[in-house]
Amino acid sequence: QPELAGDFGTLMEWADAVRRLRVRANAETPLDCRTARDFGAEGVGLCRTEHMFFDAARITAVRQMILAADEAGRRVALDKLLPEQRKDFIEIFEVMAGLPVTIRLLDPPLHEFLPHEEAEFAEVAAAAGVDVETLKRRAAELHEFNPMLGHRGCRLGVTYPEIYEMQARAIFEAALDVAARSGQAPIPEVMIPLVATKRELELMKAVVDRTAQAVFAERGAKVDYLVGTMIELPRAALRAAEIAEAGEFFSFGTNDLTQTTLGVSRDDAARFLTTYVEKGIYAKDPFVSLDVEGVGELVQLAAERGRSTRPGIKLGICGEHGGDPASIAFCETVGLDYVSASPYRVPIARLAAAQAALRK
Ligand code: PEP
Ligand code: MG
Repeated sequence: QPELAGDFGTLMEWADAVRRLRVRANAETPLDCRTARDFGAEGVGLCRTEHMFFDAARITAVRQMILAADEAGRRVALDKLLPEQRKDFIEIFEVMAGLPVTIRLLDPPLHEFLPHEEAEFAEVAAAAGVDVETLKRRAAELHEFNPMLGHRGCRLGVTYPEIYEMQARAIFEAALDVAARSGQAPIPEVMIPLVATKRELELMKAVVDRTAQAVFAERGAKVDYLVGTMIELPRAALRAAEIAEAGEFFSFGTNDLTQTTLGVSRDDAARFLTTYVEKGIYAKDPFVSLDVEGVGELVQLAAERGRSTRPGIKLGICGEHGGDPASIAFCETVGLDYVSASPYRVPIARLAAAQAALRK
């Protein structure tokens, strides 16, 4: 850890000796994973796979997948994407060398993937073998007035399970490849986004488990893995007891949980939140520092309810608050197992976790 040499490195060692909370990083590229490890991250707490789908070399196939009229059309595009995804995960597993890696299945606001330019439509049309007008009609059908509350997260997996199936296949094939090459088996934690109900998680876990069994049978080898969910909607927090029956871990997505609990768009909040803080309505920007009284109560309640049906359920946080010292202190109080922060905030999180443990 060259960046953490000298006195700062010593301070970090002291922090590590007293903290209870584990510290992971939000990372989806090998470079981010490397940086995170250099700063002492003990795993990846959130790998946002939608970021991988923006890659220039694969965006046409992604658009083809989104705009396909039926499952057969989507499968053609998914076959193109599978080797790319497998490579993504191999690289991450290699850098993380046996540390836990939480991979979140696709959670896009769909509109971000739709083509806009004439040339983009033409490219997708050529790849898919359909005419441009058909594609445009399809894009218009997919238009959403409020994409953040729309067809995203597991809703996409419920309507198009073959997308999650491709991602699960890529994860398990990558894990087996890395295990065979390095002798060190990765332990993927497959995370389902934007779950509101137990049934959603059951359906998506069944897709992941079925795919795992198929890959293990084909390869004659297996790896351990977990399937869990984000808790990022108030309903999920309230129903955490039954959701915990279907999933093996929770990760609090406090960005969306703040957005949906306060009813404030995370993309537009800056317009008035400064005034709100000035007038004392919120003590701090709730998207930066957890609104402990409101959102925090949902986190606490979900942790308790989750533990009531699955004692020892693994609990983490992967919203931006995972790198904020005051929010980390709250996570210690609730007894979460880990916080996950952006790679450059990992040292701050290690220190804040130690301070929180000492205070306790
Ligand atoms: C969250 O909602 O807190 C989260 C981590 O997911 P994303 O920011 O990708 O929506
Ligand atoms: Mg989210």
